[in-house]
Amino acid sequence: MSKKAKYRKIHNTRYYTPHELAECVGVTPKTIYSHIELGLPADKGVKPYLICGAEAKDFYCQFYNKTTIDHGKDEVLCHGCGRVFSFNNIEVKCTSTGKYYNDAKVQVMVEGRCPYCQRKFNRFKSMKAVKGMKTGATIPIAKLIGKE
Ligand SMILES: [Zn+2]
Repeated sequence: MSKKAKYRKIHNTRYYTPHELAECVGVTPKTIYSHIELGLPADKGVKPYLICGAEAKDFYCQFYNKTTIDHGKDEVLCHGCGRVFSFNNIEVKCTSTGKYYNDAKVQVMVEGRCPYCQRKFNRFKSMKAVKGMKTGATIPIAKLIGKE
């Protein structure tokens, strides 16, 4: 069963310890603690922490939908912190790979760092998607277009 389907089994009306929640979601307890850092609401006044089912469900609904859908062509999902950001607003290096998706789309490699956790990323994107981005490298478009 996918993680996405698993979190739906969380009961709205009960409280979970990180261990219990980890089983429900299908991740390790350590991951649950990292999710708490990312904004999963938890009652930290007690040990182990207690997480309200309804709040956890809300969090995972957003979290997993973000990681699977809901991000645009100019956006990148950070594999470090799970946040989605647009690369139009940050400094990136953009290099052509010399490949085409089709006649109109030229493939480029976009490299940069996550603005939240500074983790490096690199993604293949189409020229269409990178229009308007801040770029640190020149893309030899003329060269590519002329290529058969
Ligand atoms: Zn990140």
